Amino acid sequence: MKMQINGKAVESYSGEFFDIINPATCELIDRVPKGTENDAAMAVEAASSAFSGWASTSPQQRAGILYRAAGIVRQRKDELSVLLTREQGKTLAEAKNEIAGFANVLEYYCGLASSFHGDFVQIPQNGYAFTVKKPLGVCAAIIPWNMPALIMAWKIGPALISGNTLVLKPASNTPLTNLTLASILSEAGLSAGVLNVVTGPGEVVGETLVKSPKVKKISFTGEVGTGKRIAELAAGRMKRVTLELGGSDPMLVCDDANLEDAVAGALRGRFYNCGQTCTAVKRLFVFESVAEELIKKLETGIRNLRLGNGLHEDIDMGPLNNRKQWEYIKQLVRDVEEKDEGRIITGGRVPEGSACSKGYFFEPTLITDVPVESRLLKEEVFGPVLPVVQVKDLEEAIEAANNSCYGLGASIWTKNIDRARIGFEQLNAGIIWLNQHLKVAPEVPFGGTKESGIGRENGPDALSEYLDLKTVMLKT
Ligand code: NAD
Repeated sequence: MKMQINGKAVESYSGEFFDIINPATCELIDRVPKGTENDAAMAVEAASSAFSGWASTSPQQRAGILYRAAGIVRQRKDELSVLLTREQGKTLAEAKNEIAGFANVLEYYCGLASSFHGDFVQIPQNGYAFTVKKPLGVCAAIIPWNMPALIMAWKIGPALISGNTLVLKPASNTPLTNLTLASILSEAGLSAGVLNVVTGPGEVVGETLVKSPKVKKISFTGEVGTGKRIAELAAGRMKRVTLELGGSDPMLVCDDANLEDAVAGALRGRFYNCGQTCTAVKRLFVFESVAEELIKKLETGIRNLRLGNGLHEDIDMGPLNNRKQWEYIKQLVRDVEEKDEGRIITGGRVPEGSACSKGYFFEPTLITDVPVESRLLKEEVFGPVLPVVQVKDLEEAIEAANNSCYGLGASIWTKNIDRARIGFEQLNAGIIWLNQHLKVAPEVPFGGTKESGIGRENGPDALSEYLDLKTVMLKT
C-alpha cells in the first residue's frame, strides 16, 4: 500500500519500504513506504493548502462527508476487520468491534456539527461581548498500533468536523487499516489534502510533524516516554498538544462484590486485545477474605481462554502485536520467576502446539503474591499477564492503587454505595468504573491524569481541543 498525500497514493522520496508482518504467522502481508522528512513536509504543505477551503465549508457539509464515510465503513466492515486482524493480531470479533467503533465515533461527531458556536456575553456597565470558535489549521495525529482504527477516529472525528486539516502518522506495525480508512474518506468526498497519511519511523516522520511551524496542534497517543519527547518539542514551539499515554489501571474487588461479575470483568479487562489496551486491568487488588475464591475462579476462566490466530473461529485471544512486545512480556515473566516476585498460577509460557507454533503468542497468565516493588506493579504491562495483590480493606486498596505514576482508568467492584463513593472520590484516574472495566463510549470524555496524559478525547469537550476561541468586545 502507498501513502496518501494530497489525495494521491504516493511512494516515499526515499524509494524505501518497510514490511508489515502478520503477528499470528510472522508472514509478510504487505510493504509500505518508509516516509522521510520530505514526505512529512509535503503532507503538511498539502494540508495547509487545503485548509482555507475546508474551513469555509459548513459543519453540516463536513458531517455529510463523514457520515457517508461511516456508511461505507459499515458496508465494508468484514473486509476491514480481516485486514485489521491480519496486521494487528486481535481476534476477528475484536476487530469487528473496533471497525464498528470507528463508524460510531465519526457519526457521533456528525451529530455535534451544529453544536459548536460562540456565545453572547452581557457585561455589566460595559456593554456586551461575543465569542467566535475557529479551527486551528493543520493538525498532526500520531497513533499507536494497539487500536489503530478506533484511535484514528478519536482524532480525525473532532479535528475534521471542526474544520481543521490533518496529517496522520500511523504506527509502523499497523498502517494498512489506517490507509484503507483514509481512502474511504476520499471516496466519501473528502477533498484532496484535507486528510493525509504518511507512513514511516516516528523519530523521522513524527518528529518532522511536531516541529513543523505549519502544524498548530499535535494529538498523540502512545507511550509516556514518547509523549514526553513530543511535549518537549511542542513546548519550544508553543503548540497545542493532546497526549493520551500509558496506564496501569487498578481493579479493586471488595468482599461484597459479585465475584462472578468481577471474574468476567477481569478476564475481559485484562485479556481483551491480548492485554494491549491502555485501560486494561493491569493490577488487581482484592480483599483477603474473598481472595482465594476469586483467584480460583480466575484460574478456571483463564485456562478456558482459547489462544490462536484471530482469523480462526472460536478464538478468545490472539498474539501480541510485535516481537519487541513479545520479548518484553517473556522477560518480565522470567524476571518474576528468577527473582521470586510472585507465584505463577497459570500460564507464563510461550505456548506449544500447531495453532500457536509461529507468531508472537504468550499464554494468558495469572500471578499472585506479588510484592509491591515488583515490575509487574510499577511498569505498564502491555500484554496478557494479570498480577493479583491481596489487601485487607478499601483504604489499603486505594492507597496501593494510587501508588503509581499512571492515572488513566480504575474500577471498583462493590454493591456498597459508600464504598463506591469513596472509590470515585479517592482514586486518582481520569475514568472510574463501577462494577465494570474497559467500556468506553464516544459520548464521554476519555483521558488520564498524572503521567497518563494531558487533555481529553471523546465527548463534546474534545471539540475544544481543536478550536481556537476568539473574544470580541463591543462598547454600547
Ligand atoms: P509509541 O509511543 O512507541 O508509538 C506511538 C506512535 O508514536 C507511533 O506512531 C510511533 O511511530 C510514534 N513515535 C515514536 N517515536 C516518536 C517520536 N520521537 N516523535 C514522534 N512520534 C514518535 O507507542 P506504542 O508502543 O505504539 O503504543 C502503545 C502505548 O500506547 C501504550 O503505552 C499504551 O498504553 C498507549 N496507549 C494509550 C491510549 C490512551 O488513549 N491513553 C490508547 C492506546 C494506547
